[in-house]
Amino acid sequence: MQVHAVIVEDETLTRQSLGTLLRAQGWQVWEASDAAACDAILREESIDLALIDLGLPGRTGQELIADLAGSKTIAILAVTARWQPEQRIAVLEAGADDYVVKPFHNGELIARIRAVLRRRKAQIGNVIKIEGWEVDLDARVARADTHSDAASVQIALTRGEVAILALLAEAGGRIVSRERLSKVAARRAQDGDLRTVDTLIYRLRRKFQAGNDDSGLNISSVPGLGYRLGRTGPASAA
Ligand code: CA
Repeated sequence: MQVHAVIVEDETLTRQSLGTLLRAQGWQVWEASDAAACDAILREESIDLALIDLGLPGRTGQELIADLAGSKTIAILAVTARWQPEQRIAVLEAGADDYVVKPFHNGELIARIRAVLRRRKAQIGNVIKIEGWEVDLDARVARADTHSDAASVQIALTRGEVAILALLAEAGGRIVSRERLSKVAARRAQDGDLRTVDTLIYRLRRKFQAGNDDSGLNISSVPGLGYRLGRTGPASAA
């Protein structure tokens, strides 16, 4: 699965070189120069990793880490120029998974990132986020991704449905052909023709609609091509 990372760093050159380093791993990277910009990115994107400089203008890196620590799905790596052990302890206690001290070695940074991602994945299992839902691919359960105290909605999914959702999520709003979906569904359901895909999509829409009247899950049909996540409209330019 492709890693979606956000870098929160106010020094432009450092941020850009970190961006280059992370993109070179094949990851998708967003850059934020302060905590508020990071918040805006998190509202729009499903982020797996936050690389957070502690010395930020406005809300500090440590405060941002404390805010993000509640998320089960975001791995947090602090970047600090401060060498004091007290600072490192405070950052870990605030909820960071690990930290690196500037100046850091690129190879070590990447190794530490991979380690925290592995640990986080082991903790949360194989979870993907789709349009306000968290889908646990191993447990085959979808939960409304709300931070409210309202009774959490939970939807049980079949192997075929999970396979279809994972593929649509991986495409991130781009069209996935019925043929491709059909192949995946066939492997899981052992009965894959094109109608099976249509049936699976129909069942998914119904399940999610019943689960939550407000958001449901928008899977658009693109006549002659396939399906994509999102409301019907112009195909994503991604
Ligand atoms: Ca800084």
